[in-house]
Amino acid sequence: MRYACLYELWSMMPPGRKKPTSILDSPEPAEVRSLFGFNIQQLTDLMAEFDAPAYRAKQLAEAIYRQWEDDLEKVSTLPKPLREAMSERGFKVGLPQIIESYVSMDGTERYLIAGNDGQTVETVWMPDGDGGEAGDGSEAGTDLRRATICVSSQIGCAVNCQFCLTAKLGIIRNLTAGEIAGQVVAVLKRHKVEIGKRRINLVFMGMGEPFLNYDEFMAAVRLLVKEVGIPESRMTVSTSGIVPGILRFAQEPVRPKLAISLNAPNDAARTEIMPITKKWDLAHVIQAVRQVPLRPKEKVTFEYVLLGGLNDRDRDADEVGQLLRRANLPLKVNLIVWNPGPGMPYSMSDPHTVHLFQYRLKYNNLPAYVRRPRGRDIFAACGQLKRTSEKLVQLGG
Ligand code: SAH
Ligand code: SF4
Repeated sequence: MRYACLYELWSMMPPGRKKPTSILDSPEPAEVRSLFGFNIQQLTDLMAEFDAPAYRAKQLAEAIYRQWEDDLEKVSTLPKPLREAMSERGFKVGLPQIIESYVSMDGTERYLIAGNDGQTVETVWMPDGDGGEAGDGSEAGTDLRRATICVSSQIGCAVNCQFCLTAKLGIIRNLTAGEIAGQVVAVLKRHKVEIGKRRINLVFMGMGEPFLNYDEFMAAVRLLVKEVGIPESRMTVSTSGIVPGILRFAQEPVRPKLAISLNAPNDAARTEIMPITKKWDLAHVIQAVRQVPLRPKEKVTFEYVLLGGLNDRDRDADEVGQLLRRANLPLKVNLIVWNPGPGMPYSMSDPHTVHLFQYRLKYNNLPAYVRRPRGRDIFAACGQLKRTSEKLVQLGG
């Protein structure tokens, strides 16, 4: 059995078994252990175990998070004996690997990325964004110097939204911080992105509910900000409304921007499509969002998946308008036309209806944008991530 990192190994130990006192005291020293995912403190502790000075941790972090070196042997800033000692103990860089990729007609790419246990997760590269997630609160537009990576936080999802294909998987497992940040680095490496030259936005909107994997998700954010060098203001996390997660998020000194999947104008309608509403209703979600101290010019995004005939009527738009005006928050609305998937009893709103819905929100003084669907033909669009090998989906329905 392989483990993504030591913490996972510990957490999987049967109760009553003593935790190793030293990183080198692992019960199975021959096992492969990934360094990718260790923060600077953990790397420093590891170097101490090897009797190496703390600056070696910085060199290692530089090699794996900035140079994206995946072979410990090639980390030439570390002395060879140290590298050898680490390899003997089963350490390797362990950057998650892209094992399959699908390219859409619109330039979007979807990847299956494997962690160290061989389980795959999906990540999406959108070369020019999708019109809704620019890091500075403006519309992303179609600027070729910017790109957006859509990152997964879990394999599958427990939340059971009725319109989402990921929900059909159920929850398979949480991803580790290394696996979450590793998706980003694997994709950046694939596209030879020069951080700082190209503007990269991250949206944690792939598979899974980030706030049900809170600690690993936030650890990944910190790695991406501090070690990989992507500003948190270019990151957006979307949640289905996990109130305890939003309240913890409100306390974070370093955090992405927040998006809430609203998807319905009231609790009754939302419960039908997002049963999680029974646990945390809209009033509590909005109350929790109000606790998040926003940065200057920062807005909270409310995402609204338009389901034909179900939540896209004039009166729905007006009710959403009233609800959000009452919330009295700096916010914007991102409208997402539902992306179809097999076996789901919904339909896509027609373009005229989408336009009218947007217009009515604007009439209510709410900034509203329509996200362009990206990569539907390769199952890469919102809510379509299901670890599929399919390349084509029948549109219609
Ligand atoms: N679990 C988190 C983040 C992942 S889902 C959340 O739900 O917010 C990201 C976005 O995709 C959410 O706003 C969700 O409502 C939307 N979505 C899910 N399935 C979709 C589908 N089939 N078509 C369009 N958007 C979808
Ligand atoms: Fe999970 Fe988000 Fe899909 Fe709901 S929409 S099932 S929370 S991934």
